[in-house]
Amino acid sequence: MKSFVRRNHIGVFAAVLAALIVLAMALGGFIASRGSSLVAEETSRYLSEVSQQTAFKVNQRIEFNLGLLQNIDRQLEIMKTDDAAREAAIGAVVESSPFVWIGYADAAGNLTVPGKGLADASACSAVMQAIAGGPAVSDELVSLFEGETGALYAVPAPGDNGASAIVGCVTPEKMELLRDTDTFDGVGYSHIVSRTGDFILRADNPHSLLGGDNVFDTLREKTDLSEDDLEDMERNLLRGAGGRVSFSVDGELREMHYRPLDAGGWYVLSIVPPQAYTGSLTDFIAFALAAMAALCVVSFAVFGTYLLWVTGKKNREVGRIAFVDPVTGGHTAARFDQLVGERQEKGVPFTLVSLDIGNFRLLNDLYGKADGDRLLRWVHQVLSEGLHEGEVVARIAADTFNLALDDLDADAVDARLGRFAERVNSFNAESEVTYVVRISCGAYVVEPDADIVVARDRANTARKSADSSRDRLCSCAFFSGVEHERLLREKDMENAMERALAEGEFVAYLQPKVSLRTDEVVGAEALVRWESPRRGLVQPDDFIPFFERNGFVVKVDLAVFEQVCARIRSWIDRGLRPVPVSVNLSPLHLQRANFLESFEEVRRRYGVAPELLEFELTERLAFDSLELLRSVVDEIHERGFRCSMDDFGSGYSSLNVLKEIPVDALKIDRQFFVGGDERAGRVVESVVDLADKLDMGTVAEGVETLVQVRFLKGIGCDAVQGYVFSKPVPFSEFERLAFGVQGESA
Ligand code: C2E
Ligand code: MG
Ligand code: MG
Repeated sequence: MKSFVRRNHIGVFAAVLAALIVLAMALGGFIASRGSSLVAEETSRYLSEVSQQTAFKVNQRIEFNLGLLQNIDRQLEIMKTDDAAREAAIGAVVESSPFVWIGYADAAGNLTVPGKGLADASACSAVMQAIAGGPAVSDELVSLFEGETGALYAVPAPGDNGASAIVGCVTPEKMELLRDTDTFDGVGYSHIVSRTGDFILRADNPHSLLGGDNVFDTLREKTDLSEDDLEDMERNLLRGAGGRVSFSVDGELREMHYRPLDAGGWYVLSIVPPQAYTGSLTDFIAFALAAMAALCVVSFAVFGTYLLWVTGKKNREVGRIAFVDPVTGGHTAARFDQLVGERQEKGVPFTLVSLDIGNFRLLNDLYGKADGDRLLRWVHQVLSEGLHEGEVVARIAADTFNLALDDLDADAVDARLGRFAERVNSFNAESEVTYVVRISCGAYVVEPDADIVVARDRANTARKSADSSRDRLCSCAFFSGVEHERLLREKDMENAMERALAEGEFVAYLQPKVSLRTDEVVGAEALVRWESPRRGLVQPDDFIPFFERNGFVVKVDLAVFEQVCARIRSWIDRGLRPVPVSVNLSPLHLQRANFLESFEEVRRRYGVAPELLEFELTERLAFDSLELLRSVVDEIHERGFRCSMDDFGSGYSSLNVLKEIPVDALKIDRQFFVGGDERAGRVVESVVDLADKLDMGTVAEGVETLVQVRFLKGIGCDAVQGYVFSKPVPFSEFERLAFGVQGESA
């Protein structure tokens, strides 16, 4: 739930951030596109203003020049016919003006220039226009005197001084029309051209790219302006209209505004590289976009870091779950393996100890899980406190711990484990109720290149072989060659078992049960042997425990049962009086519902009465589940079979079993007859008494002496099964013992 909330939280955060970034990008795109079109518009507008100002300046200067000429006319009016004075006045003006000469023209256009001579100006429209009554400027550069080309300014001379117009000439060198019209720190400049595009006055500017005599020719030749644009511009100039064009020349972008001047049909062309103006604006936009991008990057970085932090935290959490044991708070098996792996990498051998708490399940059942967990924590605490630096402890499963100890010597390990066990039990000193915690350990020396899984398996194997029968707090066994051999033997059995079963190598032997009242054989127990062609006669203790672990025992039991049924059938068929035979039933059968079905099927096949068959159940089953045991016994009885409790007295819940489970007979465990203990004898006496009262038969198992037989007879035990009468024997031999007949071989 918590992690879901956090995941959600990250999701919302990421969504908001993504939205912001998308917004920023959209905004950036908008600014970039709208910005550049705004810049273009603004540039145009600004450049148009610049050209307007230039035109204004030029117009004023032309106006001024025309004014100078009008002034002369007025002076001449005053002086009338004094030629010398007239020439002096003109000379004075020429001195201090851009005019290279000034003269006067008569009505026919004959021009007199003092100091220069006469010239025919009738072809000059500006002169003729002034004669006609209006000031004018020549629409192009004119050459009236040898070696001298310039623009003609003409004003009417209305007085009766013999002149019809005053005319002045300004050569391009003296034209100051474009003074101070450069813009943008000199990168922007202007030209003056006639309406046909001939240069009247060229900008004196190092950036000027346009040369030649005619601007249209130059534009056509040097720039990328299209013919259409050029023709448009040509038309505009001819009709006196202004406009603008953009072009690139020598790879550089230029914008040109052309604007008509007041006089001579002249045009001012203002030329600017647009970057000169847009530069700072585009720089600003670029800066804004870069800032925005940086903001996005920073946001990403912040979010990325946050995400890393969150996933890191999650990983740490997962790590904690994988590596921290929830019960003890110590290491888990995974963490243990990792830590010992690191030790192995350093090339340091260690002793792996598999440690198990004796009867932990019983303790759990008796006192509850909370107390069980408390004990596990306590054991873990004791073990960790007793470790040297670099040694490791972890709870591997239920009540099994693993230790990696520095000591490699068996005695040293044994001594340390003994101290651990004492310390574990130290709580008894302070508590009223004492509970002895016994630990059993298996140890295995792990070389740096050994596999930890194999090592653990060997330590576990050693632990199971540890002798816990003696009354010690700690029993420890080192994995030895013996265990190793056992493992190999088990592997060998595993490979051989199926074939052995198919070939009838698992053979049932019978051990007679002798009545203490009649001394007759009143029954038998079927006990399996493995008649292996390779290994000889193998006893059940050598393979049944292993088959209990790998599940194969289920098949063996059924095979024994079938042999028993077949033999009873044979007894009946041969006219012998059959005795009931018991078979051992592994607890594993109970894991399968209806397991009795397969036994029932075999019984029916051989037509044997069920009361001739008895199942021996072990007390261990009662420990797992009394209810299950009870229901199994009931079903056995419903089907008409007999049922006995094997090894009675060796388990923990014997009284419970007596109370709850209505078996037909108790098989009193062999351990009561070992050593002739008087006290044990009294227990047996009471058990027999009790069984009698509960209508159960009693069979004493493992009876070896006649003394025991007499004792059992004395206390009223029903029957005896033991070496005192016979070991388990093949069927034929049993028949000789039980029926006094020469038995048929199996
Ligand atoms: P169990 O069912 O308690 O069988 C009695 C064991 O005590 C037999 O060992 C028997 O040979 C032995 N015994 C009988 N009288 C004496 C005696 O006077 N002195 C001594 N020292 N021992 C005596 P066995 O045949 O080796 O079987 C051992 C155990 O293997 C059986 O104990 C039973 O738990 C198991 N087992 C044997 N056959 C089968 C089988 O077919 N299926 C299953 N599931 N378990 C079997
Ligand atoms: Mg038995
Ligand atoms: Mg037994």
